[in-house]
Amino acid sequence: MSDYCCICNTRISEGDRNQIFMNGGYLSFEFCSNCWKSEKLHSPSTGGVITIAELFEQSNKDHNKQ
Ligand SMILES: [Zn+2]
Repeated sequence: MSDYCCICNTRISEGDRNQIFMNGGYLSFEFCSNCWKSEKLHSPSTGGVITIAELFEQSNKDHNKQ
């Protein structure tokens, strides 16, 4: 587990950590709060652009469906 944001490579301080777990927790990605709220990603499901926070909420919903 690294302490660096996987987008901007800034060191993440305690309390500034945002994590996404994938593959049932085998993979985790960490983001600083800045990238978490502002970085835009292309959504594979909609083809639109969403923030990491929104992607995270979506994957949580998907997970709960199963
Ligand atoms: Zn960052």
